[in-house]
Amino acid sequence: MTHSRLILKGFLLLIGLAFVGEVVVMAALDRLLPELSGPAERLVVGVLLAALVGALTWLTLVRPLLVSLRQERDRVRAERARLEQEMARHQLDTRLYRALEMADDEREALGVVSRALAEVVPDLPVQLLLADSSNAHLRPAVLPGLDAGAEGPAPLHGGCGVETPRACVATRRGLPVVFPDSRALDACPKLVGCAGAPKAAACVPVSIAGRAAGVLHVLTAADAPPTPEHVASLQVLGGQIGARFGVLRAMAASELAATTDPLTGLLNRRSLENRARELLEQGVAIAVVAGDLDHFKRLNDTFGHAAGDRALRVFASAMTGSVRPSDVVARLGGEEFVVLVPGAAVEGAVAVAERIRATLREAIGRASVPAFTASFGVAVGSAGERFEDLLKMADQALYGAKTSGRDRVVVAGEGQSSPRRAGDAELPAQATQELPSSPRRRIAPQHDVDAG
Ligand code: GH3
Ligand code: MG
Ligand code: MG
Repeated sequence: MTHSRLILKGFLLLIGLAFVGEVVVMAALDRLLPELSGPAERLVVGVLLAALVGALTWLTLVRPLLVSLRQERDRVRAERARLEQEMARHQLDTRLYRALEMADDEREALGVVSRALAEVVPDLPVQLLLADSSNAHLRPAVLPGLDAGAEGPAPLHGGCGVETPRACVATRRGLPVVFPDSRALDACPKLVGCAGAPKAAACVPVSIAGRAAGVLHVLTAADAPPTPEHVASLQVLGGQIGARFGVLRAMAASELAATTDPLTGLLNRRSLENRARELLEQGVAIAVVAGDLDHFKRLNDTFGHAAGDRALRVFASAMTGSVRPSDVVARLGGEEFVVLVPGAAVEGAVAVAERIRATLREAIGRASVPAFTASFGVAVGSAGERFEDLLKMADQALYGAKTSGRDRVVVAGEGQSSPRRAGDAELPAQATQELPSSPRRRIAPQHDVDAG
């Protein structure tokens, strides 16, 4: 039953009671005190009775009703405010979800986070600390809008000094924590160390793929601590950051797994083929440098598979350390590698292979791997060339390098470019045969690239 109905009923009941009461009392007075039967006396008695009934009614019915009404009104107002806040949070949640869903990478997602922070904590200095993929270190995330000084909360440079997710009380508990005063006995130790006037802080954890991996950190003066609304909005934001970063990191990891070789971190064959096709479709001529470790099976057999794996990694890093960022380095499989050198002529491609040999010699001196060498075959094609054909030419040249003594570079259609060195004597002389008939294709002259 609604309150207005209750009041109406109570009011009608009251009038009825007052009326009945007055009639009864008047009748009783008539009988008991007939001398008060004059009109003036009756009026006085009537007024007194009405006052008495009114006072009793006020005390027993109206006043409690009014008190309960006021309480009910306050409760309704509070409930309405709560519902409005909940609705606002729900709307924020939905808008954040939509905005973050459109962010294709972490940089774009952080742009959304900046704009959201400008909305939910416009006046508070704020910081987002995120763990790297190893989850070992917390680092302040670059919040593009805020760091660029756009409107919104100030970025919290030099904010919380917490270094790992385990060291943060909020991420450890997986719950938001508010510290109203840095002077309090139970304030966060990182807050106690804050310089300047007493501070208050709110720390809202961000969990990525179920792991505590970040924290939203708001720092204010102790006399104006973050409100529960601030904390609730930051919680919504923290939840959405965690969800989106989880998806983005999972997508990046699966893309990485699909495109790279797990042992060396180089691109795999499929990525290499895609990249080569892209370049050829764009009309860019490419040189292919195929490299293969010499007598690798023997290295494996002698020193073990783990040493073989280390050798593969040393070779991969010698390759990446010898090329320019525009070159593409890939592991085809086993101990076979390829470098694509866009726009390179024969000299440029040979220089790349020779640099790899030189870098490898130095790297082997430093790394704890058994000494080994590698042979290379080089093929240079024109823009219309098919990658498969180029790779085949480079492979044949590589075979030529193997059969002519290994640890050298051979260009498709030419002889070897790096003669056997003095130290090569220790290499077994097996398979030092005549060069096989390498393709005699006429290779169109290319524009030279800087060999360095
Ligand atoms: P060549 O000088 O003619 O190239 O001889 P090779 O021994 O290097 O070539 P071969 O093809 O006979 O042997 C390749 C070896 O590479 C055999 C295989 O065990 C080893 N291998 C392939 N993939 C891996 C790997 O991921 N890790 C390790 N440790 N060895 C590998
Ligand atoms: Mg080999
Ligand atoms: Mg091989």
